[in-house]
Formats: sequence, C-alpha cells, structure tokens
Amino acid sequence: MVVKSKVIVIGAGVGGLATAARLAAKGNSVTVLEQADHFGGKLAAYRRDGFVFDTGPSLFTLPAVYRDLFLKTGGPLEEAIDLQPLDPAFRYQFSDGATVIMPGVGTGQCADALASGLGGRAADEWRTLIKRGGAMWQITREPFLQSPLTGWRNVLSLARNPSDVHTVAPFTTLRSLGEKTFSDKRLVTLLDRYATYSGSDPRKAPAVLATVPYIEQTFGAWHIGGGLSSLADALVKRCLDLGVELHSNTDVTSITTSGNQVSGVRTVDGEAFAANILVANADAGQVYGSLLDSQAAREANKGIKKSTPSLAGFVLLLAVSGRTPGLQHHNVWFTENYDAEFDAIFGRRIAPVEDPTIYVCAPEDRLMRPDTDHESWFVLVNAPRHGDGTNGTINWDEPGLAEHYADHVLAVLARRGMDVRTRVLWREIRTPADLERDVRAPGGAIYGTSSNGARAAFARPANKSPVGGLYLVGGSSHPGGGLPLVGMSAEIVANLINSAD
Ligand SMILES: Cc1cc2nc3c(=O)[nH]c(=O)nc-3n(C[C@H](O)[C@H](O)[C@H](O)COP(=O)(O)OP(=O)(O)OC[C@H]3O[C@@H](n4cnc5c(N)ncnc54)[C@H](O)[C@@H]3O)c2cc1C
Repeated sequence: MVVKSKVIVIGAGVGGLATAARLAAKGNSVTVLEQADHFGGKLAAYRRDGFVFDTGPSLFTLPAVYRDLFLKTGGPLEEAIDLQPLDPAFRYQFSDGATVIMPGVGTGQCADALASGLGGRAADEWRTLIKRGGAMWQITREPFLQSPLTGWRNVLSLARNPSDVHTVAPFTTLRSLGEKTFSDKRLVTLLDRYATYSGSDPRKAPAVLATVPYIEQTFGAWHIGGGLSSLADALVKRCLDLGVELHSNTDVTSITTSGNQVSGVRTVDGEAFAANILVANADAGQVYGSLLDSQAAREANKGIKKSTPSLAGFVLLLAVSGRTPGLQHHNVWFTENYDAEFDAIFGRRIAPVEDPTIYVCAPEDRLMRPDTDHESWFVLVNAPRHGDGTNGTINWDEPGLAEHYADHVLAVLARRGMDVRTRVLWREIRTPADLERDVRAPGGAIYGTSSNGARAAFARPANKSPVGGLYLVGGSSHPGGGLPLVGMSAEIVANLINSAD
C-alpha cells in the first residue's frame, strides 16, 4: 500500500482513535500521542474488588455512527463489542413521586409509557414532540451535523426552505418548545433534561435539541457488555490492527509550523515528531490557547473564549451490597426546581447544586459486579466547572468539599425514597477537578462547549483549522460532544484529510 500522509493525532479520546482508524484504513501512516496512561479519554472505567464502573459515558445512542466506522475500518461493530439493547431503559421519578418506566426503543411505546406514568394527554403531546424532533433531524443531519462547519454556508443551506426554518425554529429555546408543546410540567422537565446531554441549559439551548429524545427513542438506548469503556478497548484494538502507533504518557506541549503549515509536535520530554497532517483531539481551547503560537490561533481562541463551556459532573462510584427492587439500568430522580439547578451552574451564584437531579446507572451486567448480590452504581449530578471561583467556576479541590457534597447527594437521594447509605461498601468520588487532571477537560466540562444560545452550534471551532494541515476532532469542535457527535466529527475530519490528499 502507498503511504499517503504522515499523521500525528494529539489525544487518544474517542475522536482521536476513530479518526486514526479511519485514516489508517485509507493507507495513511498514523501515530497517536496520549498524555494520560490510558487510551479512550473520557470513555473510561474504574475497577475494584470485582466492581466495574464506567466513569464517563454510560448511555450509548445512535450506534449507526460506530457501525459505519467499524465496517469501514475492517469489520462489523457487533463483532468488536457486545452491543445490548436496553428494555426498559430508564426509570424517571418526578418530584411529586410519579414514575415512568421508559422502554429502550419505540416512540409509540415511549409515549404510552408516559401516559401510564403521568396520565392526561402525555402520550399525544409526547408524540407531537417526537414528530417535531424527527423532522428537525431530517433537516439538520446531513447539511449540518455530518458536514464540515463552513460558517454562513451551513446556515444558508439550512435556511433555503422557509418551512425548514419554521420546523427548526432556530431562535426558540428547548424550554419554550416544551412549554408550547406540553400541558404537563413534568414533560417540560423531561424534555429539559435532554439539554444536559450536550451540557447545556434548556432555557438557552435551541429547540433543535428535541432531536435528542427522537434519536434515543427511535434508534434505541444501548449498553455495551462489560461497560461502555469496552468501546474504547475495541477502538484501540482496531487501531493496532491497522498499524496505528499508540503512545501513552506522551504529553504534547507544542505544535510546530513552517510558515502557515504544520510540521510536527514537541512533547514535554523534548521529543519531536514530524508530520504533514496533525489531528488535535485535545480540547480546542488548549490547541489554540497554548499548543499553537500564531496569530491565526489567537484569533480562533478569542471565539472559544466567548462561548459558554458545557456543564461539569460530580460523580460517585458506589459498591453496593444487596439488590435494589425496581432499579432500572438508567434511573433519574428529578429535582422539584430544575431552574435552581441550572442557575447554580450557569447563573450568577455558582455553587454545588443544593437539590440536584440525580442520575444513577446500575447495569444489569454480570461482568460489572462481583456477583449477583451486589450492584455497581454510577451516580452523576450536574455540577459547575472547577476553577478558582471566578468565571462561573468553583474550587472542587477545597478541603472537605467533595466528601461533604457526596454525603449530601446521598441524603437527597434518601429523601426521594432511595436510601442506599447503609448498603455502600465503599465509594469513590470523581469531581470536575479530577476529570480536568485526568484528560485535560477544561474545568472538567463534560462536553466541551455548551449549546447555550442560537449561535452556539455555529460558533464551535471548525474541524479544519486556519493553519494548513491542522484538523480538530472531538467534543470541543464541530459538531459537539457526546459519543454520536464525536464519531461524526471523526468522519468529517477523515473525509477532509482524505479528500485533500
Ligand atoms: C461523566 C461523563 C458522562 C458522560 N456521559 C455520556 C453518555 O452517557 N453518553 C455519551 O454519548 N457521552 C457522554 N459523555 C461525553 C463523552 O464522554 C465525550 O463527549 C467523548 O468521550 C469525548 O471524546 P473526545 O474525542 O472529545 O475526547 P476526550 O475524551 O476529551 O479525550 C481527549 C484526549 O486528549 C488527551 N490530551 C489532551 N491534551 C493532550 C496533550 N497535550 N497531549 C496528549 N494528549 C492530550 C486527553 O488526555 C484525552 O485522552 C460523558 C462524559 C463524562 C465525563
């Protein structure tokens, strides 16, 4: 095979690994440099005493993105991972105690489940919402999510048809779409939660995020046997099979250029790697703010600084003895006051959320617990980012804060009817500061930048940078965070590089 380009990928998150596999499959020579001691970035696991926890993603949606990746790089996804459909997928408990057991797939079945849990017009109103989400998906998928970001050209291609503009309603927020569609406040709350799938505030994020429940309920909610981190292992294996060189503990400290063209990278140990193509999977703010020293980078960084970062997450990993009746794979206990939660994260008075919505993932997966009498609980609540207390951050390293807040979250859960405290054998706490240290996510932001504001989607850094040969992939660049979009980002980048060869 003729080797086309010498490619260096900075960062072995999902975006970096997926791009590396796609490029290697097309005959490029690819080396991945990862600063951490593990590959997969945020898609990671924690193992202890037979308990296994996903520490990042716990919900896998839109597997078609990864089916395409695996098929095009050597063999089907289903042969690389143990893909398991979930049914039921979610247990939602609202602040008035009403519960909904949501099937894993089927928009009609999901609407019916809402009717049995909430009564009234819930089913019809949810169907209306999902129909709108589906129409939005048809309009935005190809010209926006699966295409490179080209600024106003993307907007124009979306704006060609007035009825499409009406459907997407770019200046309507997700919250206001919910309020217009639903007579039941609990459905507004349910829809609000989908804004957090991109780390956003539903009061500011666009209505087009109604595509998220449409995707989840149409294409299914999935688990991966052994934990979602098995996807990272499968990506690493695919890369190795294709001849990609992977280096862990290799911290890239600068990108070198010749004129306006990349020439390689330098690492913290002073090692230099030459390349004519660089794919940066590191956060875009780091790429333009510190790795690259050029006027173009400074300009690009100004745009990033103007955007609102995604929310962060406070995570508890609980080794639980005994079995919990009624617990589903994914469980959500909603707060009574979602606005107060978003105010504490995005508002003026930043603080750990006093009365948070609490999410628990407790997989019914024999590979993730020591035996059938124990459960591995991944508990996640939305949190403000880590920092020095300015610019919408709090200092999660303040002595005692994490332990105190962990106790508080478990007490809130107990008040909502799920007291697990006497059954916890041990717990591990992961704050936004830990995520920042582990994978260099600024402030521990889960998804890069949020979708807050009508312009947010168009303001993300483009995959093709202003510097020749430099491309950006992953949650902090177009089209955004979460496994499906990060996978799409990798496809866009690989196509841009292959078509430029
Ligand atoms: C708690 C949590 C829950 C989540 N839940 C879900 C979910 O349920 N479903 C879902 O789809 N998504 C979820 N996500 C989001 C999802 O994990 C991310 O969107 C996705 O994994 C990000 O991939 P990425 O390619 O952007 O890279 P990242 O995972 O951010 O990886 C970037 C990599 O670059 C490396 N790096 C950075 N700087 C350098 C450098 N200078 N030199 C070398 N290497 C460097 C980092 O160490 C890291 O490995 C969740 C995330 C978290 C944290």
